Amino acid sequence: MRILLTGAAGFLGSHLCDRLLYEGHVVVGLDNFVTGNRENLVHLVRNKDFTFIRQDVSETISVRGKLDAVLHFASPASPNPDSPFGYPNLPVETLKAGSLGTFNTLDLARINHSRFLFASTSEVYGDPLEHPQTEAYWGHVNSVGPRSMYDEAKRFSEALIMAYFRSKTSDTRIVRIFNTYGPRMRLDDGRVVPSFIQQALRSEPLTIYGDGLQTRSFCYVDDLVDGIYRLLLTDEHLPVNIGNPVETTILDFAETINRITGNTAGLEFHSDKRLGNDPERRCPDISRARDLLGWEPKVNLEEGLVRTITSFREKMGII
Ligand code: UDP
Repeated sequence: MRILLTGAAGFLGSHLCDRLLYEGHVVVGLDNFVTGNRENLVHLVRNKDFTFIRQDVSETISVRGKLDAVLHFASPASPNPDSPFGYPNLPVETLKAGSLGTFNTLDLARINHSRFLFASTSEVYGDPLEHPQTEAYWGHVNSVGPRSMYDEAKRFSEALIMAYFRSKTSDTRIVRIFNTYGPRMRLDDGRVVPSFIQQALRSEPLTIYGDGLQTRSFCYVDDLVDGIYRLLLTDEHLPVNIGNPVETTILDFAETINRITGNTAGLEFHSDKRLGNDPERRCPDISRARDLLGWEPKVNLEEGLVRTITSFREKMGII
């Protein structure tokens, strides 16, 4: 297939590029570097099956030649307002990427009669009242809250995609991505994984927002990409959760990172830093992914963290 991937220079996008190229596809990567990072694609510069276009997905997209698939992954994704890369600091860009960007990529897929796959998110469930979250759960979301620019853009995109699908003009897929981690995450995007690993490698205390009893379920990037690739090859049009169903408190997660890195600086509690509408619990029900895709994660947290910490050490110049 000849595949257009928006957000190609991002953490997930760049890993997905690698997988698509590995599978023998031709990839056109698109990014405007608002949160993506050139370094993530440097290793592909000489790959004859990869081309790159610098473009904002919210503006008109022009790609020459026939496309067999369009994958829309472009969006800021960190909720942290302390980072310049967090979506609270890029609210209009985030809403445009998940509205105009979705229109543009859907239209491109329609014109090309190609497959379409959208990177949605567990954030569509908001601060959920049901655990674990199945795709049938409608969510508990604040449309005017501090995370709304991201949550509502993704929810709008899902609605738009279903409208295109139901009009029988488009061959669409929606993956709901839960917390994912691995090499190539931005060190400075303020999300919990890069923040904790950086603090641990600098022998600093890990900053827990709130009491740390909130939970997340962390999926290693290779597992996630495998689930997405399998979904791309199916004809499943309703949303599919992809994530790791092993739930952990942020407190336990921090202690695991301190143990693996040998950091003895401990933890520091910042009750003021916990954002409004920060989900209390998040854990995917992956029954649909198991049934439809024969997929489940293989890399456990310990193993994934060791790989991620090793890559962060290199990135930070720590031997
Ligand atoms: N968090 C934390 N310390 C940090 C960064 C984040 O305790 O330095 C918490 C945050 O409040 C949230 C969880 O870790 O409850 C996961 O946050 P992240 O920003 O990674 O993304 P989210 O899962 O909320 O989208």
